[in-house]
Amino acid sequence: MIFSQVLLAPADPILGLTDTFKADPRQDKVNLGVGIYKDEAGQTPVLTSVKKAEAILLEQEKTKNYLGIEGVQAYNHVVQTLLFGEGSALITSGRAATAQAPGGTGALRIAAEFLLRNTDSHTIWVSNPTWANHQNIFETAGLAVKEYGYYKAEAHDIDFDTMMTDLSHANAGDVVLLHGCCHNPTGIDLTLAQWERVAQLCADKKLVPLFDFAYQGFGAGIEEDAAGLRLVASKVPELLVANSFSKNFGLYNERIGAVTVVAEDADAAVRAFSQVKRTIRANYSNPPAHGALIVSTILNDAGLKAMWVQEVKEMRERIAEMRTLFVDSLKAEGVTQDFSFISRQNGMFSFSGLNKAQVARLKDEFGVYIVGSGRISVAGMTKTNMPVICKAIAQV
Ligand code: PLP
Repeated sequence: MIFSQVLLAPADPILGLTDTFKADPRQDKVNLGVGIYKDEAGQTPVLTSVKKAEAILLEQEKTKNYLGIEGVQAYNHVVQTLLFGEGSALITSGRAATAQAPGGTGALRIAAEFLLRNTDSHTIWVSNPTWANHQNIFETAGLAVKEYGYYKAEAHDIDFDTMMTDLSHANAGDVVLLHGCCHNPTGIDLTLAQWERVAQLCADKKLVPLFDFAYQGFGAGIEEDAAGLRLVASKVPELLVANSFSKNFGLYNERIGAVTVVAEDADAAVRAFSQVKRTIRANYSNPPAHGALIVSTILNDAGLKAMWVQEVKEMRERIAEMRTLFVDSLKAEGVTQDFSFISRQNGMFSFSGLNKAQVARLKDEFGVYIVGSGRISVAGMTKTNMPVICKAIAQV
C-alpha cells in the first residue's frame, strides 16, 4: 500500500488553531488567531461596496467562459494603479506586468516558481519573525529560505541594524521578502528613511525585492501604505509584488490577489510575463473570475470606489480604537507591565510578548486563542470580548 507509509502532517499553526477553536464548547471563547477582520458585533460582513458590485455583476454578466491565463485585464490594470499610483511611469512605460492570482498566497507561490525556473535567484531572505506560511510556500516551491533579523523582543521594536547587517551578507540576485505595510506578525513597519536605506542596499548589492502586500489600507491609508513600495520601486531596476485583497475588500474566500513583475524595461517585462503565464498555466491554467470582477467593478466606478475607501477607513479606525482600548483595559485589570507599544503598531496584528506557556494557559484555562508566537489579531477584538481577553491575560 502506498498510502500506509504517509505520515500525518502537523496541524497548520494558524488554521489548525481555528479547528480547535470551533470544537471548543465554551460560550465565551475568543479567537484572536487567524487574521480576519471582525466588526463591533464580532461578524465578518460582506462590504457594502462589494454587495453593490455583485448586484451589478449579477445583472450584467453574460458568460462564464474561461478567462485568459493572466485573468481579468481591467482588474490587472487597477491593481497596478493601487500599487504604484495613478499615472505612474512604471505603468505607462510598460515595465510592470500583472497577472491575477488566487489570493496573496497564490501570488507568492507563482512568484517563487517563476524565479526558480527562469532565473538564478533561488535564495529568498525573509524577516525573523514573519507570517507563518512564508517559509512553507517558498520551500515547497523549491527556493532556499534564509532569515534576516527584524525584531528586538526586549524593546518591542524593530531591529533595523541587524536587518541591514544580515542583508549585507546576501549575494547578488538573492530575493528579499519585504512586507509592504502592517508587518505580520509584529505590526512594526519601516520608516521612510529606513525604506530608503533598504532600497539603496538592494540597488547596491543587486538584491531583488519581493513585496508581500496583504494589508494595503490597514496602516495609515490606501495611498500612504504604498509609500515604501513606491520608494523602493523608484530605486531598483527589478522587483516583484504579491498583493492580496482578502483583507482590504473582505474577499477572503474569493481568493483574489495578483502577482506583478517590474522589469528593467518593457521588453524584459514582456519576456518575464510570458514565463509568469507559463507558470500559471502549469498550476491552475487560469484563475476564477468573480473576485477580480468585484474589485475591478468597484475601482472603476467613482461612487463605489469612494464607498470602499470609506469602508477600509472604518476597518482601520476600529482596529486602532481596539489597540488603545486593549492597552487601557489591561491597565485597568491591574497589569503593571507596559503594553503601550501595542498602540504604536500597525495593521491587524500585535506581537504581544506573551510566551508559549502563557499562550497555552490562555487557551486551556480561559478559551482565548492566540498563535503560539504570541501574535494577537487585534482585528478580532470587540468592546464585548475585551474584558474576557484582558482578565485572562492579567491572570497568566
Ligand atoms: N501575506 C501575509 C503577510 C498575510 O498575512 C496573508 C494572510 O494572512 C497572506 C499573505 C495571504 O493572503 P491570502 O489569504 O490572500 O492568500
